[in-house]
Amino acid sequence: MKKILIDMDDTILVDCYLEVVNEYLNTNYTYKDIKKYWVDEIIPKEKEAEYLDYFYNKINVYDYGHVQENAIHVIEQLNKYYDVLICSAYIDHRDLEICSKILTHKHNWLVKNLPFIKPENFIFTNRKDVIPTDIKIDDKVENLKTCETKLLITAYHNKNIPIEELKAQNIIRVNDWNQIAEILLNH
Ligand SMILES: [Mg+2]
Repeated sequence: MKKILIDMDDTILVDCYLEVVNEYLNTNYTYKDIKKYWVDEIIPKEKEAEYLDYFYNKINVYDYGHVQENAIHVIEQLNKYYDVLICSAYIDHRDLEICSKILTHKHNWLVKNLPFIKPENFIFTNRKDVIPTDIKIDDKVENLKTCETKLLITAYHNKNIPIEELKAQNIIRVNDWNQIAEILLNH
């Protein structure tokens, strides 16, 4: 059975971080305003410590945003034919002591929303490159290493990467979970 490593933020779920930032700052930022990979880098430096306390201690980021259309259904189908693993990063160097709190939120969201995946198949690490698998699905190019089939799901920070550049790295761009199903379930 082939193994698939699936990312969580901006792959299964979208908009969570942007909605938290907008609520915290009382703003209406859209992805056009976000110039970096991490949405919350838009927070002014002087508010950072207060924001981190809010983010890690006062809210659950997974109460925000939404699940990508059809993601859960497709993952459930994939789970019949593949060994599906969910892999999500959690380390935030801005505050290493409190960032582990998000592990609880990630774990609990997965248990509740992907009950067909064994919790043994959850991997929480920022070092996705050291996990060899057959297939990886992620929104971050750097995470699509050490695998045969590389599926990059379109997100605000990767949408301008030219297709030729992706092809040179053997990466296939997918825009949604229906496209993922077409590639991985059509046999
Ligand atoms: Mg991601």
